[in-house]
Amino acid sequence: MRTKECPSCAMEVDAKSKECPICQYEFAYVSTGYKWIAILLIIIMLIYLFL
Ligand SMILES: [Zn+2]
Repeated sequence: MRTKECPSCAMEVDAKSKECPICQYEFAYVSTGYKWIAILLIIIMLIYLFL
């Protein structure tokens, strides 16, 4: 069974499930690449804050 990490509670859940069985987080139909873009934006924002 393939699993994916819930971005809300960080638990491994079934990759096919539409929502997290633990915290009811609804998985959007986006690739994991989207998460990295968000992290990158946060890092860029932090750099600007500290400059
Ligand atoms: Zn969850």
